[in-house]
Parts: sequence; structure tokens; C-alpha cells
Amino acid sequence: MAEALGGLVRTHYCGELGEKHVGETVTIMGWAATRRDLGGVIFIDLRDREGICQAVARPEVSREAHAAADRVRSEYVVAVVGEVRARSAETVNPNLDTGTVEVVAREIRVLSEAKTPVFPIEDEVDTHEEIRLKYRYLDLRRPRMQRNMRLRHQVAMEVRKYMDGQGFYEVETPILTKSTPEGARDYLVPSRLHHGHFYALPQSPQLFKQLLMVSGLDRYFQIVRCFRDEDNRSDRQPEFTQVDVEMSFPRVETVVDLVEPLFERVMAIIGVHVERPFPRLSYAEALERYGSDKPDLRFAMPITDVTDEMASLGLANYPGLIEKGARARAIVLPAASAVSGMRLRKINEEVWLGRIVPDARAEKRPLFTLKVSDETFAKLAEKGASAEVALGLCAKTGAAKDDTILVGTDAPSAVAMAMGILRLEMGRELKLVDERAYRFLWVTGFPLFEWDRELGRFASLHHPFTAPVDEDVPLLATDPGKVRAKAYDVVLNGCEVGGGSIRIHDSAMQARVFELLSLSPEEARERFGFFLEALQYGTPPHGGIALGLDRIVMIMAGETSLRQVIAFPKTASGTDLMTGSPSAVREEQMRELGLLAVRK
Ligand code: ASP
Repeated sequence: MAEALGGLVRTHYCGELGEKHVGETVTIMGWAATRRDLGGVIFIDLRDREGICQAVARPEVSREAHAAADRVRSEYVVAVVGEVRARSAETVNPNLDTGTVEVVAREIRVLSEAKTPVFPIEDEVDTHEEIRLKYRYLDLRRPRMQRNMRLRHQVAMEVRKYMDGQGFYEVETPILTKSTPEGARDYLVPSRLHHGHFYALPQSPQLFKQLLMVSGLDRYFQIVRCFRDEDNRSDRQPEFTQVDVEMSFPRVETVVDLVEPLFERVMAIIGVHVERPFPRLSYAEALERYGSDKPDLRFAMPITDVTDEMASLGLANYPGLIEKGARARAIVLPAASAVSGMRLRKINEEVWLGRIVPDARAEKRPLFTLKVSDETFAKLAEKGASAEVALGLCAKTGAAKDDTILVGTDAPSAVAMAMGILRLEMGRELKLVDERAYRFLWVTGFPLFEWDRELGRFASLHHPFTAPVDEDVPLLATDPGKVRAKAYDVVLNGCEVGGGSIRIHDSAMQARVFELLSLSPEEARERFGFFLEALQYGTPPHGGIALGLDRIVMIMAGETSLRQVIAFPKTASGTDLMTGSPSAVREEQMRELGLLAVRK
């Protein structure tokens, strides 16, 4: 039976006790992680948020405390009052932070009994994630999850302190709102008072933060939930948290100068020193050198364009392809990595079968592989290849003796993507990635629009409120696909952790961009009329960024799943296994919302 807390007052956290408390009488409260009865003396490892401390119940100290300890089982909630004693040298537990002391119980109260937990509350559990999510409150008790939650809190606090120091106001924006275009599907909420009408949950507070600039608030930030109804991938959640930022009168540099020190402060929480300034790459360079718009710079293995070399090598490798505009791109596997011939054949097969680049539309073509050795060069010569060009290929890619050069040839975007994915695979496989490194970079110079083949029209690469680069404005009329955006992404270890832009602050320019996006004036008015109107009342030039809080914390915590850093996350299919949502609702509720016809 559970006992009342009564007059007991906790004096310390379990995990906080140490030698400096020896001799003090303390009251600790927590969960029984383990209970061992060693011939009449009962040891309880008591666990709370801050750690574990051993309590010991001896009948000669207190018969009642000993009897209570005897009842304790795993995960019972227990209060222990007793004296902190130093452990003898041979009983010190080096695995516990509090391992040099123990609390000798004078009183033990069982505050709550517990069913046997569904899985052990410890870090190394191999329990299926579905079970962990169903019993999330047990899962969150695990020290690793407690650490992750603390880190998340610390990051959020640091952000708030920093932003406050920089003169930003935290302003809340509506959750029940109108659709915001971030390129995903909206979550809709039916209106009870206006049947047939729906609120949309914000994909981001984009328009509101811009309106706050029109309102003269000058500097806004918000740690805010965003909702996007997408098919979830492992690195996405239907609701996620952004550090959303907007400021008036900024240049791109103003945003950069705000964000870099923010990351510097946040990373210091885990003792990581961030090198500044962050390197910058243009979108085109990033694609060409790393085959990705979010390159992982924790290892080198750059991609080199070897189109000219492949065209003049004298080997009939995809004849005609290069003439038709294909590009040849190479990566080099270092000799030391000793990739076997069999593995190389397998890699080739994977590329061929589309396992490396499942989305590429282009036909899969095996890679050309070249091991830098006298034998291969001799064989190449036999096949009629130019030794000079082959040497030039080595020089250009920086390949040394016994390295292996892998060359992919395909349409420019397909080969960039394929080689980018291959680079990542090989970097991981060959353990070239420095797992302790935190490498930031900015990617800039994105195109304003991308051509959507399916819809046969332009779409915004970021969102439609992004301003074009000034000198590219004339191209809006002649070659919109060439217009660059005043947009920037911030990338950490191959993961996009933020993105933003300088915005359009002129309603005529905004209307023009809507038009290029094939939004009819009626549609633009219907969806964004309020915003276009606001722009006409004196809009300061403005811009901002949004940083993905979940992803940042995930990387800092050394986790690979967002679910590890969100208290109550959803599964890949968007369900919450603990509450069982989404769930059916009563017919009556549907009727009230106008989703079912009213019964006559
Ligand atoms: N609203 C944008 C996003 O959520 C970020 C920004 O442009 O500030 O991606």
C-alpha cells in the first residue's frame, strides 16, 4: 500500500550526493532501480532525474525501515531518510557518480507501488521501439532519455538568453490559422462555428513573422511548433520545433552574424568549440563538389568533374553520352581503405540496380573504376586508352598509387546526386567520417525557382516570399530559372539545420513572383490577400531564418533518430502509440463540426 508523503521534504537529489554530504541526514526520493537482499541487509539503488544513489536498510538501524525496504520492488517510488556515510574502499562503486557514499536508512516510505516495468529502465535496452513509445513515460525514465531532455532544455534556454541579449522579442503566433506555403500538406481543423471552413495548422509562422516586421517589432523570435503533413522519413516528424527568427533591415551578413555566435554558444553546452566563420559554398559548388546541397564536411573525398578526361580517354565508355550533355564525376577511394574487387563489383551493382540512387530517373549505368596501378594502366593501354589522359585523370582527382577512382557518367543532376550518395556511403563504410567533429557551413546562391516537371511550372525552392538577388531581377522577365535567391541554409554534419532568406518587401515584386509561380491573381488574393495588402502599408526590408531545434539537439546528443530527443514523438506513420492518436471520434462530434449530415 502506498504511504503519504506526510511531512517529508526532499533535501537532495539522489544523483547529487557525494563525499561532501557525509555525516548529513538527508531525505531522498525516487524510483527503486534495483533491490538486493544480502542476508538481512537490503540495498536499494534509488534513481531520480539526477542519478542513482545506494540506500541501505539494516535491521539494527531501523527495524521499520528494513521491513519497508523488504516490500520494495522494481520501480516503486520510495522516500529514504537517513545519514550519508562514506563507503569502505572495497565497496566503492566506480560505475556510479555517487559511488563513494550511501544513505543508511532510518526511515523508508513506499510512496507508490509499481507494476513490473515492461522493459528494464536502463540505457542499453533492446526493447522494440514500438513498446518503448507505447510506454513512453517508462522510456523517458531511462538515464539516456533524461540526458537528452536536459540537453534539449539547455539548448532552448541558451537560445532564449542569447536572443534576448540580441534584442529579440519572443512573440507567439497562432496555431489555428490559414495555410502557409512551405511546400508540404496542411493539417486541417474543421471549424464548428463555420461549417465547411477549416483552420490550417501552421507549416511555419512565415507570414506572421513577416507581418510582425510590418508591425514594427523589429526583431522577433519564437521557439515554435510547426506542422507538416508529409510522408514521414526517419529524419522528419509531423510536428517539429523551430527556432524561428525575423529581423528588420538585415543584410545576409546580419543574419549570418546573428546565427554563428548562437551556434557557438549552443555547442559550448556540450563542450564543443565551433570554428568561425563557417565556410560558405554556393548551391552549385555544393552539388558539384559533394553531390548534395547539405554536404557532410566531416570527411573530404571531394567529387571531381572528369568529363573532359573521360571524353578523351579513348575508351568507349557510354559513347555519345558526354556529347549529349552527360557529365562524368569521380571520387577516389584511398588505397589504405583496401576496398576489395568484390566490394567494388557490389557497389557497381547497387548503383546499377538503383539501390544507391533510388530516385534518379536516369537509367542506371555502372561506374567506371580505375585502380591506380601499373597493371591497370598496362591493361588500359592494351584496350587503346591514352596513358597520358589516364595520368591526367589521376592528377585531377588527386589519386595516388593504389587508390581507386570511381567515375559515374550521367545527366548532370543525376550524376551529382549519385556521386553524392556514393560519397556518403563510402565515407561511412570506410570510416572516414570523424564522428567527434561538428562541421558547419552555409550554402547560399540557391536558385529562386526550380522547374516542377510533373506540374510543368516553376516552384519556389524555399518559399514564395524569398527575395531574388538584386542583379538577377531583370532575369525574372527573361530566364526565371536562372534567378538566384537571397537565401541561405545552414548545414551541420550533412544535415540541414536551418534555412532562411531576405524577403520580398515590395507588394508589386511579390505579386510578380506569385505570377511566375503560376498563381492566378485571384488565387493569390484569396490565399495571401491580407499579406499583399499589409506589404502596402510601409514594409521595412526584412529577413530571417528558422533553425530546426529537434535536429540540432539530436546531433548534439549523438542520436540518429529525432524520436530520441522529442518527449512524445510520433512513429513514421504519424501515430502516437501511447495515446493512440489519431483516433476515431464520436459521430456527434463529427456532426457538430459539419462533417456528417445532421440526422433528421
Ligand atoms: N519559414 C521558413 C521555413 O520554415 C524559414 C524561413 O524562411 O525563415 O523553412
